Amino acid sequence: MMVLMQPGAKPAQIQEVIDTISSHNMRPLKLPGDEQTAIGIASAIPPELRESLTAQLRSLPGVEHVVQISRPFKLASREFWKQDTVVSVKGVEIGGPKCVVMAGPCSVENREQIFMAAEAVKNCGAAVLRGGAYKPRTSPYSFQGLGLEGLRLMKEVGDNLQIATVSEVMAPEDVELVAEHVDILQIGARNMQNYALLIAVGKAGHPTLLKRGPGASIDEFLLAAEYLLHHGTKDVILCERGVYPLDKTYTRNTLDLNAVPVLKHLSHLPVLVDPSHGTGMARYVPAMSRAALAAGADGLILEVHPDPKHALSDGQQSLNPEQFQCLMDSLKGIAAASGRSL
Ligand code: PEP
Ligand code: MN
Repeated sequence: MMVLMQPGAKPAQIQEVIDTISSHNMRPLKLPGDEQTAIGIASAIPPELRESLTAQLRSLPGVEHVVQISRPFKLASREFWKQDTVVSVKGVEIGGPKCVVMAGPCSVENREQIFMAAEAVKNCGAAVLRGGAYKPRTSPYSFQGLGLEGLRLMKEVGDNLQIATVSEVMAPEDVELVAEHVDILQIGARNMQNYALLIAVGKAGHPTLLKRGPGASIDEFLLAAEYLLHHGTKDVILCERGVYPLDKTYTRNTLDLNAVPVLKHLSHLPVLVDPSHGTGMARYVPAMSRAALAAGADGLILEVHPDPKHALSDGQQSLNPEQFQCLMDSLKGIAAASGRSL
């Protein structure tokens, strides 16, 4: 059971809810948010008490609503919050009627590359520029990203071209620095269950794109989102990016498009899809991008590089600007057929 307090509820009103729960020998759990506080009950509720307790809590001053939540995730659950959450970043609304496309290179490589990529994706209609400065690479011998220099370039290009930016943070101690340079923090698939990182990012309260781990169940994914919400970030964007494939011969991962309607049903958070990592092959990215929007995704995150053949990471799955333009043109009809715009 969860009690959601009204925005601006007084500390005494919050305390009264806590005391009421404690008076029934149950453990209250306070979840303070930016605007509203939620109070959960972290104990089993005897069935005979359920109805009267709900009525009692509902009648207390400052209480907005009381809900029963059957899922393991609470704040991320649509049972708790019925409306779609819309994350607003630099005038871009993620989770609203317009599908949002985030695009850019896998890694920031140098000034010329990121400026060329940013101009290209912006001209084609992308609303957010992606670009990794800290790269989680399977091999320590692969390009590891430019680090702080990459973040500085993301900030410069974002300010110059007036485009929102997203970049990955890999370590709790870097959270503040990354948040100072980009508009959206990305938690990569490999770090979805890095709880120290989830807590640090949650506490920063910055909009966050959370990628699903390649072996994570839907419950594990939503519980990772729950960490972010529980620790104070209300602007969480979910991203399906492919799960371990049965057959790696032709694709790097298997894009789990089932996850889109499932996540939209279970959670109020916006859902993006990453067909670049989901397929690992530029050739298959357009088809899976269209499929993702048709399945109800709120948008896409795509790798686009001015010269994919010479990319320092993920070139084989990156579109060039012309391919990206063609894809954006073809997505308009799919968005419209799904009752959205692009
Ligand atoms: C990326 O976005 O470049 C990336 C590393 O993605 P993922 O965490 O999904 O593998
Ligand atoms: Mn990549």
